[in-house]
Amino acid sequence: MVFLLSWTTPASSLDLKISLHNDQMVQSVIFTVVDGYYRVSAEGMKAVNCSPGDSWYILRGDDGLYTRDHRGQWSLFKEIHFEAPDESSIFSLKPGEPLLESREYKGGLEVGVSLESLSLINEINMETYIMGVSEIEGGPNSPLEYYKVQAILCRTFAIKNIERHAEEGFNLCDGVHCQAYKGRNLWNEDVEIGCEVTSGLVLVDEDSVLINPVYHSNSGGETQGAEKVWLKEEAYLQPVLDPFSVGLRNSTWERNMQVRDWIYYLLSYNIVFPEDADTSALGMKQKHRKDYYRVLEDSIAVSSIREDFNYRSDFFDILVDGDMIRIKGRGYGHGVGLSQEGAVEMAGRRYHYTAILNYYYHQVFILPYFDLKLLFSH
Ligand SMILES: [Zn+2]
Repeated sequence: MVFLLSWTTPASSLDLKISLHNDQMVQSVIFTVVDGYYRVSAEGMKAVNCSPGDSWYILRGDDGLYTRDHRGQWSLFKEIHFEAPDESSIFSLKPGEPLLESREYKGGLEVGVSLESLSLINEINMETYIMGVSEIEGGPNSPLEYYKVQAILCRTFAIKNIERHAEEGFNLCDGVHCQAYKGRNLWNEDVEIGCEVTSGLVLVDEDSVLINPVYHSNSGGETQGAEKVWLKEEAYLQPVLDPFSVGLRNSTWERNMQVRDWIYYLLSYNIVFPEDADTSALGMKQKHRKDYYRVLEDSIAVSSIREDFNYRSDFFDILVDGDMIRIKGRGYGHGVGLSQEGAVEMAGRRYHYTAILNYYYHQVFILPYFDLKLLFSH
């Protein structure tokens, strides 16, 4: 069951530090004010205000940051801070080395020097960050009800992992290591509404502990328990039959190979398939998800086969068709937790977001984060 308790306190007072272009070893950037204004400050410099169109060029050097300000004046700083008066100010950031696309962000920016690159830290309100993440993680054309689901998942992840990069001086990175974040939500108003309607809400388990809100692209018709993938069981990550994920874009996949190549592959697991044996013994059906592929007296974990061949999922049948092996797969991803395509399908069929979360996560509760904090502070 999912219980929706009263929620009145928005998570508006929670601010995050997100490391931008965290995986790209950026050496130089151009910061430009797009909307509102920014107060720019650095050690040894009188703070100045910058307006839309004003740009700063920042280059990482051996002894600090070489900056050319909006008036063309060069300086050397250890750190530089672009402070936004509120969430309405927008800046763009264009890395020059390596040359990357320009992205727009809300909130402030702290620039410093880290070991091998610039340190680019976006200081941003939690809910504004969730809007940006939901757009990337939730895809561009999903139903509004799905964006509510996505916002709760992304918010739960963010708060659960808020200390993940604490030693590096920020909360989360903008790569897939944490959650993909490419700046402010640009295209879809439903993303913003989905975040606003669920503002501050997170998913917790029976002990009021934030869950690890894992999801994948498509379950293929049946999800699997967390222990199948990560060896540790979680009460809220149990297998569920998932007809909503059938007949969609990533529901099925197929790969083929020669029988002799398959037999050769089995040798890598020390499985010797006799030349005179009936090759139909190489087949496997997974009506429901199995742990192992059994061949003669031996077996291989289906997850290992998936890994070896980089299959989309470990939910596949093996059919022997003459001298060919046909791998007929279902789903895309690890299959644990929520199936995104299944959840989008449910949203399209007018299921409420609480029902969707309730369907994929076992015995979870939706709570406002700030109530949760109060719960534990007493
Ligand atoms: Zn990270």
